[in-house]
Amino acid sequence: MPLEIPKAYEPQEIEERWAQAWFDEKLFRAENSGTSGNPSKRFSIALPPPNVTGSIHIGHMLEHTQIDMLVRWHRMRGERTLWLPGMDHAGIATQFVVERMLDKEGIKRQELGREEFEKRVWKWKAESGGQIKQQMIRLGASCDWTREKFTLEPALYRAVLEAFLRLYKEGLIYRGRYMVNWCPRCQTAISDLEVVHNERTGNLWYLRYPILGAPANGPQYIVVATTRPETMLGDTAVAVHPDDERYRGLIGKNIALPLTKREIPIIADAAVDREFGTGAVKITPAHDPNDFEMGKRHNLPQIDVMTDTAHMNENAGAYAGLERFAARGRILKDLEEQSLIEKITEHTHSVGTCDRCKSIVEPRVSTQWFMRMKPLAEDAYKTVTGGFGGAAEIEVVPDNQRTILLQWFENIRDWCISRQLWWGHRIPIWHCAACSEMVPAEDSQVEIVDGHARAASVPEKCPKCGSAKLVQDKDVLDTWFSSALWPYSTLGWPDDTEDLRTYYPTSLLISGYDILFFWDARMIMMGLHLSGAAGEGAADPPVTVANAAARIPFRRLYLHSLVRTAEGAKMSKTKGTGVNPLELTQKFGTDALRYMLASMAAPGTDIILSEDRILGARAFANKIWNAARFLFLNLEKAQAASGFTLEELAAPAIRAKAPYDTGGATNLVHKWMFSRLSSVVHETSKAFNEFRFHEACRHMYQFFWGDFCDWYIEWVKPELSSTDRNAAVAAWRNIFALLDASIRLLHPVMPFLTEELWHRLPQPEAAKSIALDAFPEPAPAWTNAEIEKDMAVLQEIITAARNIRSEMKVDQKKKVAADFSSKDARLRSLVEQSLEPITRLATLSELKVSAERLDPAGAAVRSTADFDLRIAYGDAIDKGAEIAKIDRETERLTKDIESKRARLADESFTSKAPAKVLDGFRATLAAREVELEKLIERRKQLS
Ligand SMILES: [Zn+2]
Ligand SMILES: [Zn+2]
Repeated sequence: MPLEIPKAYEPQEIEERWAQAWFDEKLFRAENSGTSGNPSKRFSIALPPPNVTGSIHIGHMLEHTQIDMLVRWHRMRGERTLWLPGMDHAGIATQFVVERMLDKEGIKRQELGREEFEKRVWKWKAESGGQIKQQMIRLGASCDWTREKFTLEPALYRAVLEAFLRLYKEGLIYRGRYMVNWCPRCQTAISDLEVVHNERTGNLWYLRYPILGAPANGPQYIVVATTRPETMLGDTAVAVHPDDERYRGLIGKNIALPLTKREIPIIADAAVDREFGTGAVKITPAHDPNDFEMGKRHNLPQIDVMTDTAHMNENAGAYAGLERFAARGRILKDLEEQSLIEKITEHTHSVGTCDRCKSIVEPRVSTQWFMRMKPLAEDAYKTVTGGFGGAAEIEVVPDNQRTILLQWFENIRDWCISRQLWWGHRIPIWHCAACSEMVPAEDSQVEIVDGHARAASVPEKCPKCGSAKLVQDKDVLDTWFSSALWPYSTLGWPDDTEDLRTYYPTSLLISGYDILFFWDARMIMMGLHLSGAAGEGAADPPVTVANAAARIPFRRLYLHSLVRTAEGAKMSKTKGTGVNPLELTQKFGTDALRYMLASMAAPGTDIILSEDRILGARAFANKIWNAARFLFLNLEKAQAASGFTLEELAAPAIRAKAPYDTGGATNLVHKWMFSRLSSVVHETSKAFNEFRFHEACRHMYQFFWGDFCDWYIEWVKPELSSTDRNAAVAAWRNIFALLDASIRLLHPVMPFLTEELWHRLPQPEAAKSIALDAFPEPAPAWTNAEIEKDMAVLQEIITAARNIRSEMKVDQKKKVAADFSSKDARLRSLVEQSLEPITRLATLSELKVSAERLDPAGAAVRSTADFDLRIAYGDAIDKGAEIAKIDRETERLTKDIESKRARLADESFTSKAPAKVLDGFRATLAAREVELEKLIERRKQLS
């Protein structure tokens, strides 16, 4: 085995090679990890399925890094570990992409027809979909790709049909004419969650509606205020509050609705807000959710005045055919001409837009499919609160998200699950053309046509009237309906499969808090309700304390932070603030980017990207590489001198027996290092388990860079080339055992770099990858509080000496003499035993140890409660040259401080500079002032 490690750490080459090898070897098949026998030693997690249209963005990268760290950690702990990947067909998003492509060819999807359009989408998916999978493989996500799923593949199509049919038969899915959010661009209903509300400044138009039979001495009009005047064509009443004195006499009278030939009543309803506008409101039941409810209370007709594309329809009379905003203009003009506009005011109100295409959503009455959520939400609520009587079945982290989730369950509303799209799971209901009876598919079986699934058990005759004229419902299901089944549909449900029995419930879900309602909450509700009965057409038994724990989709739910731009906005490609993680990995390496994201991923705090942070992470990766390289270079030298073999020093069986006794005083530092390893393994594991990834990173960083590289390796260096062969062998064995443990510790966060280094060490014959090796275990036998304390004092002494040297500006290589004094005999003996490393690491010519108090004259002294350390000025420094140097620096600093003070006194600067810049400026000035004080102090000591 070549010992040499290339000089430069070049992540691109290493990462591409290992990513491909892991994938080709199917290394992350669940069966390659642990054994399935012990249920408490299983870890399963489903990948939140990215849109098949998508490519990786920094948000995915953050999410996948956190999942991958935990997956690798669990796998290394010997658990049977499954990370199940897959893609979402993303109904509306995918249809949108393909429609835009067709637009460029000048084709409308309606011209192609449903079947041809679907073919186009499949073709597009085959060519351009799945990009994200290739990117995930390249980024080293340790998914079991042999189990990859797609929401529209036959098995999952069947699961969707099964879920729909069960819920339909139970009466939890119903069809009806209700108010929905309608997107005129996408030409489909969308759910409340898919509507983005923006505050906009618009107008409030006050319209005069002529009162029929108004007394000549009274008002001739009732004035109503509206933000959407075009909907007045669909008005079917004007409502006032029953206690409103202003209008009491008008209740029951009729109005001649302007621009139409209709008469509509003035009605009284306590829901009217007397404070809004004039206190009289126009009621348009077909175009406003509140009016819809009021219309039902008063049996008002619903007049829909628009088409699917938000043009005015035949109910709009003379305005038919006009686009809604063009109609608005025309209507206002016509009302103006008839003097029917009382006034126009400015008005800020919330406007709903389509999350997908940004069109203004039209509230509109429409016949849709809905799901009754309340009964499901009640059970779901209990699993989060322990409401079934036992402990909570689902743990939600962080706690504020748990509260938000519970509020959502409490205020749940029915879910509009139908979409007027062509790309998705088609609703398995047939309508009888003769009697309108709705006939469900007989079962959830699917057939494959042109390689794609569709419902197979098509009903032949209407059970009510016997007609054979049955037409399948045109709608497809909301994409989130299929993703709500994801944790078990991917494991083979409704069949009773081995995977379902082994990996369900999954251990954990990690998702962004932005899809808590869209996805996580719905998975809990659907999972609880449906997963209890495997087998086609099985009846869903009620959720009970006995079965709830087996039916939840995941035991823990962690809502991670989002990545934001420096200005705090959510990263977005369309806004041009999206950072392409692949560009960053090309530049800095995937391991560095992963480390950076993990080190900032504190629960509840959004992450702000900066290149400095990535550079810091890259420096850490370099440090790991260089430390390993340094050891191998020195081993080569030692081998030449003493004839060691790498096997003799670092074979797995040799490493397993560490730590080795090196004899004498140096044993202290070896024991200390193993004690530190044990603590850091414990701390890191604890942090992983609590989703405190930033703390895990900090522990690893301080351990590897601080303890291992800066202290331990430096301390034991002479031993590595010691002429005492036994001491050298023992030291080398310890160092390799520690290097091996360190890279295993670091593996979950930096998989590529550690895989590369792991292969440089001797490994068991059949061992394929560090990913299947063990995570280090805390060893109680290594933990030694006394030794950690002793080392801490020795480090303090060395640090004190270094600080004095640097303050005195002693040449870095120049050795100076120092005195050490302590009343503690044990401490004195400890220092005496470690004189060699102390003097070497602090660059001292000698260190005199005594119990006497030290004379501070002519020397710099550092004192702690336990000891004093003194370095005499003596000949260590050239006093004259030093004084001259100090004077020069004093002059420079004084000038610098003066100019900075002047700058801060200048209002034309301070009034314009951002607060951040000013704060930084003041901090620098304060630091300079302290530096100057110290210089003056030293100048006094020298003269
Ligand atoms: Zn839209
Ligand atoms: Zn019929």
